[in-house]
Amino acid sequence: MDLNANQTFGLVCAHHHLYSSLARGMPSPDKIPKSFGDILNLVWWKLDRALDLETIEWSAKLGALEALERGTTCIIDHHESPNAIEGSLSIIQNACHELGVRVNTCYGITDRNSNDFSTNMAMTEEARRGLEENRRFLQEGGEGMVGIHAAFTCTDETLNTAAQLAVDMDVGVHVHVAEGDLDAISWKRLQQHAADDWILVHGVLLPDNHQLRGTIVHNPRSNMNNGVGYAKPTRFENLVGLGTDGIGADMLEEFRIGYARLREFNVEESPETVWNMLDVNTSLFPECRKDKVTWSYEEMDPWHLAFTSGIRPVDIEIDGKPIMKSGEFLDIDSAEIRAKAGEAADKLFNKMKELV
Ligand SMILES: [Zn+2]
Repeated sequence: MDLNANQTFGLVCAHHHLYSSLARGMPSPDKIPKSFGDILNLVWWKLDRALDLETIEWSAKLGALEALERGTTCIIDHHESPNAIEGSLSIIQNACHELGVRVNTCYGITDRNSNDFSTNMAMTEEARRGLEENRRFLQEGGEGMVGIHAAFTCTDETLNTAAQLAVDMDVGVHVHVAEGDLDAISWKRLQQHAADDWILVHGVLLPDNHQLRGTIVHNPRSNMNNGVGYAKPTRFENLVGLGTDGIGADMLEEFRIGYARLREFNVEESPETVWNMLDVNTSLFPECRKDKVTWSYEEMDPWHLAFTSGIRPVDIEIDGKPIMKSGEFLDIDSAEIRAKAGEAADKLFNKMKELV
């Protein structure tokens, strides 16, 4: 990944939720979440229902800005906004491209908002609309995958149809897998579908012999934050990349957290193990090799970086175009984006207060 001692390719976040960039400061849930299910129900599934196309746009711009500020030029995004599905992926792509950030996005298909949801029922209208958004975006030339939220919120028909769409469109599927107790068993329904170009996010509760093909993306901080357990990523035969699960796109910070958690698990481990995950990210988004980041630190080496915080990009070039010079953006008005994102966040929070 290194070009020179103080230069790398653009960093890649292998699992992000740009829609959550406005979440900081959101209204507290009515009660303290006590489980993974509570965290989803009381926090994230309320936030995503409150999103409209305007808040999606500013959330994506803020997320893209914060990615660039940490030297991340490529984002693999997973999106969900059940009350603003149609057109959402194009808005995210355009918002990122406006800042020069490369993005691969998808709509996380789900049946979960149906009152009588069960896995053996017919595909719901919600899932059909999500599927169509993936299809529309890909057919129009958008860079993406087919998204599935997770097996435990999808009917069998939805999983079958989504997997077939990915085959038809010649892309992989980007899906949460065995993140927490709610998905401890349901992920097995993906075994018959998963292929090498799939992105399998989390894998915390996967057994060693899970037989799922694809790249596993490890999200150490998110897993700790949700109390779902340690994925022990070194046990997998699959390639393993590194994501943030929507908590920014600071990949050097995620690397440090991932390393600290790995050492807690096995004190004989090396920073190179987690650094290799960033190399896997590079293979997931190879265009990052056309981007150059010059850093404020002289030794972009895992043994240095594991113990050095506060490193920032000084110069960024994306596809040969200078984006940042001497620590300053050239054409991006970061204050304007932050102000507009702040207004959008107020609107989003008011909408969340109206939702039951
Ligand atoms: Zn996620």
